[in-house]
Amino acid sequence: MGIQEPYPLDVEAVRADFPILERKVGGDVTVPGEGEGDTTPLVYLDNAATSHTPEQVVGAIADYYRSYNSNVHRGIHQLSQEASTAYEHAHDRVAEFVGAEGREEVVFTKNTTEAENLVAYAWGLNELGPEDNVVLTEMEHHASLVTWQQIGKKTGADVRFVRVDDDGRLDMDHARELVDDDTAMANVVHVSNTLGTVNPVAEFADLVHDHDGLIFVDGAQSVPHMPVDVQAIDADFFAFSGHKMCGPTGIGVLYGKQHLLEEMQPYLYGGEMIRKVTFEDSEWEDLPWKFEAGTPVIAQGIALHAAIDYLEDLGMENVHAHEQLLAEYAYDELTAYDDVDIYGPPGDDRAGLVAFNVDGVHAHDLSSILNDHGVAVRAGDHCTQPLHDKLGVPASARASFYIYNTREEIDELVEAVDDARQLFA
Ligand code: PMP
Repeated sequence: MGIQEPYPLDVEAVRADFPILERKVGGDVTVPGEGEGDTTPLVYLDNAATSHTPEQVVGAIADYYRSYNSNVHRGIHQLSQEASTAYEHAHDRVAEFVGAEGREEVVFTKNTTEAENLVAYAWGLNELGPEDNVVLTEMEHHASLVTWQQIGKKTGADVRFVRVDDDGRLDMDHARELVDDDTAMANVVHVSNTLGTVNPVAEFADLVHDHDGLIFVDGAQSVPHMPVDVQAIDADFFAFSGHKMCGPTGIGVLYGKQHLLEEMQPYLYGGEMIRKVTFEDSEWEDLPWKFEAGTPVIAQGIALHAAIDYLEDLGMENVHAHEQLLAEYAYDELTAYDDVDIYGPPGDDRAGLVAFNVDGVHAHDLSSILNDHGVAVRAGDHCTQPLHDKLGVPASARASFYIYNTREEIDELVEAVDDARQLFA
């Protein structure tokens, strides 16, 4: 892999925005934060699970709580107006970031999972019946797989799965067989959190729309890492999580085409989402508030705005290019060992993550050895248990990269993997 000139990101400058990266680990885990026994430098490669939060975003959260913390849309006092304005602008910023028409199409949720459930309950339960089918793929995350599977059980809709081929790509011929005129909804993961595959979601959307169905694209692993335009994809629904893109936990986004969100009934009832209430009945607030019942995720939404500003300052093209270089490097280094199996497409055609196993070493043992080296990866099925069953392994270790990771950190990973190989040889 050649080094690009000029390099897409100033990684040292980026790292300076993330004090947590200076942390040492290895000590007593019952004491959160750096403690006496922490002596090994942290190499954080678990970004597909949760990314870190730069000072700019921590600052936005602190600024909110220090200077204008207040409930939104309920007060005419100044703090409430300031919080409301900032919270509404956060919706506008998200809309602009992913190419939505406007804030009406942007609902804040707790995370991607809640966005999936919102549509499954508010749309699926009302619209689906035994004559319909829902098309998923074998690489869906449990957030969508379990959700639509269970909605299928409640409504009688047939839930079917597009095959993943031996290279870890969607078998689009199979998709064309499965999608038919009874397909009411398809749910396709944009980037697989296990295989690193980047799926042809626009092509999938065309296929589903040709049969008058809808498509929900799970963008949890795409939006943080590459430029995304929901209208170019022609997604009907699209979801992602703030905590994977430099934002805080507790905020996710559901994008939905306005006419669809307007036609849908609310998912949660209560304050904030109503315009008029009598003892007999209620009327709903305008979009997106109709889907944000109760006190919403105010601080988190404002912080997501700051996270988007941060990422766009770097440039999503640059973020993507940097991660691709890292993924390709990691792929090449790890495939040099013939007892290391990497799942998914080749290094030059994948997103910035690598899930793998070492022959004869359980993924949990492997990640525990990596942890001894200060290298944080994820071990398990990454919420894709049926996919792991298909791969014939109970679990895998996954290294996932972000804007602050370096080639040197991948060298640390590879060295630690080599240690594990030798220990178990
Ligand atoms: N979909 C994909 C592809 C994911 O990687 C994840 C997070 N692992 C989710 C959905 C669920 O995200 P959250 O846990 O933030 O709801």
